[in-house]
Amino acid sequence: MPEVKKLSDGIFEVIKDKKQLATKNLDPGKAVYGEKLIPVQETEYRTWDPRRSKLGAMVLKKFNISLKENSKVLYLGAASGTTVSHVSDIVSEGAVYAVEFAPRSMRDLIRLASRRKNIHPILADAGKPDSYSHLVEPVDLIFQDVAQPNQAEIAARNAIRFLKRDGYLLLSIKARSIDTAANPKEVFKAEVKKLEQAFEPGFEILNAKDLKPYHEDHLGVLAKLR
Ligand code: SAM
Repeated sequence: MPEVKKLSDGIFEVIKDKKQLATKNLDPGKAVYGEKLIPVQETEYRTWDPRRSKLGAMVLKKFNISLKENSKVLYLGAASGTTVSHVSDIVSEGAVYAVEFAPRSMRDLIRLASRRKNIHPILADAGKPDSYSHLVEPVDLIFQDVAQPNQAEIAARNAIRFLKRDGYLLLSIKARSIDTAANPKEVFKAEVKKLEQAFEPGFEILNAKDLKPYHEDHLGVLAKLR
């Protein structure tokens, strides 16, 4: 029988031959992207590959993501829903507002949302929150993984609009999408500064760590409104 250890609400480590990060499958019997399904007594777990998910890597790097089963999440840069599906498992009684601007990814996301009622796919540019403000309620967490040069600005616009006063921003910064030639450490320093000063009164940075060995040249950042 595999051993299960709870890491935080909705997030587990399942030990079957090796330790694997996992969430409880909200849609039992169905894998989303080829991940393993591991039944343990009455529950089915889905393995969560930190190399395919910045959020998964942040969990293993001990970022406090503080999600509860009824949390509301605004997810910017949802792609086809690989990580969104795990957030949907975690906030089983809450909601994930999943913003993505690529129509092809949106098709997969809509298919995923048809099986998981807590996912609300939104085809929009995350840099223009006015265009989806009628679809999103105040949220406990904004998770952003857009790999864009203006990500601090995108985070600020969405936080001002949707983040609850005591909510958190979790951001993945990809050095090469900002400057292909510069030293990633310098890029990260400049981006963290941009986040702190993105608006008045700005974000307070609570944690910033490189996501190695899961993702090269990526920085994970946890912040809240000042
Ligand atoms: N977070 C995803 C996961 O773990 O499954 C991977 C996200 S991928 C690195 C970045 C995604 O952000 C792409 O699908 C891209 O189309 C989307 N994106 C980039 N800029 C965006 C914007 N301004 N608005 C909405 N989506 C954007």
